[in-house]
Amino acid sequence: MGYDIERFVGYVNEGLLCSICRGVLEDPLQAPCEHAFCSTCIHGWLVHHSNCPEDRQVVDVSLLRPLYRYMKNDLNRLQLHCKNRESGCQMVCSLESIDRHEKECEYSLIPCFNVGCTAQVERRSLDAHLAVCEYRSHECPNGCGYFILSAEDIQHNCVAELRTELELLRTEMICRVEEAKHEMESRLDSQRRHMVQKESVLLNQIEELKSQMSRLMSDVCSLMAAERQHRQELEQAELEKREL
Ligand SMILES: [Zn+2]
Ligand SMILES: [Zn+2]
Ligand SMILES: [Zn+2]
Ligand SMILES: [Zn+2]
Ligand SMILES: [Zn+2]
Repeated sequence: MGYDIERFVGYVNEGLLCSICRGVLEDPLQAPCEHAFCSTCIHGWLVHHSNCPEDRQVVDVSLLRPLYRYMKNDLNRLQLHCKNRESGCQMVCSLESIDRHEKECEYSLIPCFNVGCTAQVERRSLDAHLAVCEYRSHECPNGCGYFILSAEDIQHNCVAELRTELELLRTEMICRVEEAKHEMESRLDSQRRHMVQKESVLLNQIEELKSQMSRLMSDVCSLMAAERQHRQELEQAELEKREL
């Protein structure tokens, strides 16, 4: 969107006007047909058109180029009033430096710094506003450490504030202790379950060993019986041999 031509001092060449918004070119781009437009104006136009609004020649975003250097120089040298002229700013400067001025202009509206305050004030009256802003705050003179909004100055009660904070801290601490307790309990629980499992495995193993043991014992017994049998047979054979 171009600059309002009313703000300019002296004659402005027709070639430095945007044919879409009729203002003085802002951030200009040039089509192959040499017609120039504000960047935002021509981009907006090309969303629904594909030609130059002046002469209907084909134009595409990729064909847009920066303005010729000599035109850019002419544009930059134009003199214009600050946008805050109606508020009282008397500044007239070149288009090239108007942005820098307006950023620092004492008549530009800026937001109040105080958190919660939605006021927009002229830069030059910010200090006056800050002195009376309802959202200004100051540290409690009684040393409780709180910053008090000036609107709540009379209601401020150090003891009540501190008590509320203490309550909050206490609740938070109780919560944290509860959480820690829950975590410990669940950890213990899982360990207990693990131990119970292990115990039953061990008991099974003991049972298994016991039955193996008794099988071995009975094997040993039958071996011993067989041995005894053999020995008797041998003794018998010995006797029979001697009798012969
Ligand atoms: Zn324009
Ligand atoms: Zn054209
Ligand atoms: Zn100004
Ligand atoms: Zn304020
Ligand atoms: Zn206090």
